[in-house]
Amino acid sequence: MKLGQLKDKTKRKKTIISTVGKQGIYAVAFVCLAVAGIVLAVSMSSAPQDAELPQITPSTIPSTVPTQQPDKDVSGNTNVVIPETMQMPVNGEITKEHVIDRLIYDETMQQWCTHSGIDIACNEGDPVKAAMSGTVEVCKSDVMQGNVVIINHGNGLKTVYAGLEAVDDSIKAGDTVAAGTEIGTAGISVQEMADGAHLHFEVWKNNTAQDPMEYLEDYIK
Ligand SMILES: [Zn+2]
Repeated sequence: MKLGQLKDKTKRKKTIISTVGKQGIYAVAFVCLAVAGIVLAVSMSSAPQDAELPQITPSTIPSTVPTQQPDKDVSGNTNVVIPETMQMPVNGEITKEHVIDRLIYDETMQQWCTHSGIDIACNEGDPVKAAMSGTVEVCKSDVMQGNVVIINHGNGLKTVYAGLEAVDDSIKAGDTVAAGTEIGTAGISVQEMADGAHLHFEVWKNNTAQDPMEYLEDYIK
């Protein structure tokens, strides 16, 4: 029975081909070629569009990436905090600390008062050096404080060197000094005479007296 069914199918195919004929085969072949031609034409027409896309994307990506990277670098540089560290202006022991939140007794003035700077004990004539690079803003002689030098370090930061026995001849207002430059010699001021020879050293930030010990990294007790 199965063989009989197969024979029937082959008979049907033969009859279909015979009924369509050679002309029908040519027609089918023509349709196939036409379809192939359309597919080729569509692929050809779409090819230039695909070729243009890579030309756009590479040109846009590099133009945006380099402009973003310098922006980040510039903003990063502006955020860099310059360390405000200082070196000891004179070698010696701290004999009086920075005190502004309470009163301490001043032997010389015989009264209770604050102490905006620190006193660094030393010998008369010991060299006093700029704690940090900057510009000499004040160079004066005061009856009570003795010779005084004020150096402006920029960014609202200033240092005061009071009770100097003498100011170096080469130092005058407007001079630019490097850290460690000798600006004068230590002495005994009238205002703090009872404390002996020392340097009265102050650090000011935005017109507010600071604790110099927070800036002096090289002080060794
Ligand atoms: Zn003092």
